[in-house]
Amino acid sequence: MHCAEVGKPLIKFSHCKKSIYSFSVPRRCPLCQQDMGSRKLEEAPVSITNPFTNGHQEKCSFLLRPTQGTFLREYDGKSDLHVGITNTNGVVYNYNMYGVQRDETGWEQSVSVPLLQPDMYGLMHRWDKYLEDFSTSGAWPPHRYEGDRHNCCAYALAFINCVLTAEGKEQLDKTEFTEKHVVPRTRLASKYIALYRAVAERGFCVTDHADRETRPPSGSGSCGELPASAEGTG
Ligand SMILES: [Zn+2]
Repeated sequence: MHCAEVGKPLIKFSHCKKSIYSFSVPRRCPLCQQDMGSRKLEEAPVSITNPFTNGHQEKCSFLLRPTQGTFLREYDGKSDLHVGITNTNGVVYNYNMYGVQRDETGWEQSVSVPLLQPDMYGLMHRWDKYLEDFSTSGAWPPHRYEGDRHNCCAYALAFINCVLTAEGKEQLDKTEFTEKHVVPRTRLASKYIALYRAVAERGFCVTDHADRETRPPSGSGSCGELPASAEGTG
């Protein structure tokens, strides 16, 4: 199930030795106009993993979204991003100039980094209390907010480290967390956004197969290759 907030699902199929992305399989190949009805098995469409999730359905996760607007519509690669932490009910705790917010809507199109491993179920029971206590600790009032230092990221990272300390685990390094968990996801999101917009605009988008070291075809419709979902079409 895809909800409207995370956009229409993208699929990829092969034809003319190219990868072609679109929202649905067309009756004819947009490149050679041949009937797509009798395609070979290796040309069967696959769905493309959507890097966005409804943050309100994610438990104990780190979320990222544009401060204004959404990724698919407004994000331009440079827009300010806002981050938050979900509790076990999908309420997103985040810090801004008005203090700690507990959002029940607004994070429907987020990049999500799960913070709990499957073997940390015990912690899940303590999570909401940790998050509430941390948020009311007095360190996050509106007047202490500073856009480039004492901000949403500082709040989220400090909370993660607070939990790690309480659980007797090693602290997390901000740079390491960003490079290991955030950057790969935002990079994928940027590619997906470019692809999604190209398909929305032209109806389809073409790339050479990833395993072939050929230049993209000249003319319109060229875009980056994205990993296909293992779930198949759905
Ligand atoms: Zn074709």
